[in-house]
Order: sequence, then structure tokens, then C-alpha cells
Amino acid sequence: SVLRADQIWLDGQLVKWDEGQVHVMTHALHYGLGVFEGIRAYRTHDGRLAVFRLREHIQRLFDSAHICMLKMPFTEDQLVDACLDLLRKQKDLFANGAYLRPVAFMGDGAMGLGAVNPTRVAVTAWDWGAYLGDKGVREGIRAKVSSFTRMHVNVNMVRGKISGQYVNSILAKREAVLAGYDEAILLDISGFVAEASGENIFMVNKKGVIKTPPLSSPILDGITRDTVLKMLRDSGRVVDEVTFTRDALYICNEIFLTGTAAEITPVREVDNRSVGAGKPGPIGTFVQETYFRTVRGMEPRYAEWLTYV
Ligand code: PMP
Repeated sequence: SVLRADQIWLDGQLVKWDEGQVHVMTHALHYGLGVFEGIRAYRTHDGRLAVFRLREHIQRLFDSAHICMLKMPFTEDQLVDACLDLLRKQKDLFANGAYLRPVAFMGDGAMGLGAVNPTRVAVTAWDWGAYLGDKGVREGIRAKVSSFTRMHVNVNMVRGKISGQYVNSILAKREAVLAGYDEAILLDISGFVAEASGENIFMVNKKGVIKTPPLSSPILDGITRDTVLKMLRDSGRVVDEVTFTRDALYICNEIFLTGTAAEITPVREVDNRSVGAGKPGPIGTFVQETYFRTVRGMEPRYAEWLTYV
């Protein structure tokens, strides 16, 4: 189905969906110098609409831009307001939730790698269901370790959510899907597990130890990863931020992926080896339930993460 909403926020103004256009000479279209975010708003238990960790996402957008030396023509507050405004104006359309996509990129003007053109900024929103499918969220997905290696810290800027870097993720994702799997898991250049094509990864080994790769690995500093770390630690569980190998995934009890789009998605199989009992395990289930309760405004201790529209 074709994605459509009524309005788009473009360079400071709300315009009609069809007017959300840029020129083919847009610098970022050729060379990939853009930064973006993926943010979700949920319908809360009392029927309101709330954006989850909006401030943190906008801050990461600005950090990504700073890493790329992409000059931002708006402030963080203005982008926060743009997101809220866009949802407010389309409240009926997004009554059941929305996926927000702020993007900033080098616009048209000069070509060539040394060019510095004005930055264009847009925020769009659409209705996006479970990224890895409802069934995936419920029963777990099948993943494949990719033949593509995750970024290296001196090749790409791993703390940035930078448009051009996503070619690596797209190659991995397509390879996995064409081979009949749901998602790709990428290793770093040393062969340790890094992350999935658009999610961070957690595992629970046979001793019950919960692990996730550290931020010194070439991974995005995922906001869902941070959320899950807090939920697990608040519940008295210990999580090790350490590297581990792909075969550790083969023999562990549980794996789950975390991301704004994918939310908390269990992995039931990796490289044709079943994970644990081949179905979602207790830790992943606890995290998933706590996450969904939180985004729907049902966990008072995490209420500060919600911005009501
Ligand atoms: N890793 C990659 C490569 C991603 O694209 C994403 C999605 N933004 C994530 C991890 C998860 O990040 P977050 O929880 O902030 O959405």
C-alpha cells in the first residue's frame, strides 16, 4: 500500500503531502549526506496520543548532524514542536499511533563532495505496523548472520544515524530476505556480533546471563536498547554490555531485537538453528510486555518518557 498522510513539515512549514518534494540535484540524493530519525507515537490506554522519548530522538538527530557537520537551520525545540504539530494537525488520521520520520539533508545547489549547500529538513508521519510483522512480535522471527560486515569506527560514524550508511543495512536486509529469512544480524570486522540491520540485539545465555554488545562495538546507540537496559536493571536483573560470538547465539536460550520500528521482536531461529525452545522466552517476554505497557502510558515509573500530543 502507498504511504500517505495529509501534511508534511518541510523547512519550517506544513505543506500538503504532494508538495513534499525536492529537486533531483539534491546533494544528499547523490552522496548520502543526510541524517534521520524514526520515532513512534502510541495511543495510550486512556485514548490519548503520546510520542515515546521524543526529546532523545531529536537530540540524536542533532548529534548525527553535528558528526557530519551538517548545519541545522532549526533548533531542537523547533523540531520537537514540528513533530508534535504534525501529529496534532492529523490527530484523527493517527488516532491509533504514528511513525515519525524527521530527516535533514544537504539540499541542491553545488555538486561535488566538497560542496556545502543549505540543509533541508522535513518531518513526515505515517501509520506503520509492526516492522517485522505482528506474527514476528508474537512468535519470533528467523534471522541470518549476514555476509556483509557492520561498519568500522574509522570508516563510518557509528554514533550517527546517517542516511548513506544505510546502504550497508539494505544490502544485509535484502540478502537475508531473499534467502528466506526475516532479518539480518551483522558482525563487526573482528567477527563479533554487532546488531541487526535496523535493530540492536540482546541475548540470554544458558546461565541466564543477559548480554548486549557494548557501545564500543559498531552499533547505533539505540534508544530502545537504552530503554530495555533500564527496564531490565530496574527489575533487578544484571545485563552485561560485552561482545560475543555468533556461535554464542546458536547455543543461547533467548535472543530479542530492539528498535523503534521493530519494538521488541524475539528471534526464534538463527542460521537454521532454533534458539532455546524455538519460541519467545521469559526475559524477552518480560521486556516486551513492559515496553508495550510503557509506551501506552501504563507504567507510571516511566511516564517521563512520554510526550502527549
Ligand atoms: N541499529 C540500527 C542500525 C538502526 O537503524 C536502529 C533503528 N533506528 C536501531 C539499531 C535501533 O535504534 P532505536 O532503538 O533508537 O530505534
